Formats: sequence, structure tokens, C-alpha cells
Amino acid sequence: MVYISKQVHFSAAHKLYNPAWSREKNEEVFGACANENWHGHNFELIVTVKGEPDPDTGFVMNFKELKRIIEDCILEKVDHKNLNVDVPFLKDRITSCENLVVSFWKILQPEIAVVSNNRAALHKLKLFETPTSYAEYSGEKLS
Ligand SMILES: [Zn+2]
Repeated sequence: MVYISKQVHFSAAHKLYNPAWSREKNEEVFGACANENWHGHNFELIVTVKGEPDPDTGFVMNFKELKRIIEDCILEKVDHKNLNVDVPFLKDRITSCENLVVSFWKILQPEIAVVSNNRAALHKLKLFETPTSYAEYSGEKLS
């Protein structure tokens, strides 16, 4: 089994806000991230795919193909967008790094399986919200 990774970048605005709570409680829990008029991040997303290299190409998956999937399925929908307002698949979700990475998984996992004819499988997503804060997800069941 060989693992390959593609790193991509996007910039987006959001706020962390639980509508079930008062403004005071949101500010207490989320601090500056609850700022009503949004704030932005430069996100880095690392997509890791696993598989056996194809004997004809030597590739687990063509990096160009992987990049195209990430661009079409994720970047076009989130880059330079307001994650709370502009992105249908994040509607009614708290746009935390954790929830983003799980939402991205649900979109990318089946797409990579189909495009690769099940030769390759999504293995891990790593999403940096800042250079020192990131969330990872490998498709484990969430309660
Ligand atoms: Zn933030």
C-alpha cells in the first residue's frame, strides 16, 4: 500500500456561532471567533489517498486527477467564500475546523473511489486553520 498526498490552499471567512446560545455565551465559548462580522483564515488542506500503484502508470492516482477532484468538489465551493453563508453543504453546521474536515470527507471519499475505479481510497484529510492548529479525519464513525 502506498500513500500519496496533495496539499491545496483556500481562503475563507466564517464565524463560530451556536444559534441555540445567547450572544454572550457564544462570545464566552468561541471568543474572537464568534465576532459577528466574520473573520478569515488561510486554510491548508492535505488530502491523502492510498492504493497499490497501477502497473501501467506506476501511480496510485494521477496527481493531476486528484487535484482536479479537490478543485471541483471543494475549492470551487469554499475558496474566497463565507463558509457560514455561501456553502450549501455547511448550512446549519458550526464551521469549526473539525466539522469542515468531516464535511469534506463525505464529498471526497465517494468521488475518489468512483474516479479511480476503486483502485485508490481516501485515507486521511488534514485541515490547517492556522499554521499551528489543524484537524485530521480518516472517516471513523462519529457518534
Ligand atoms: Zn476562525
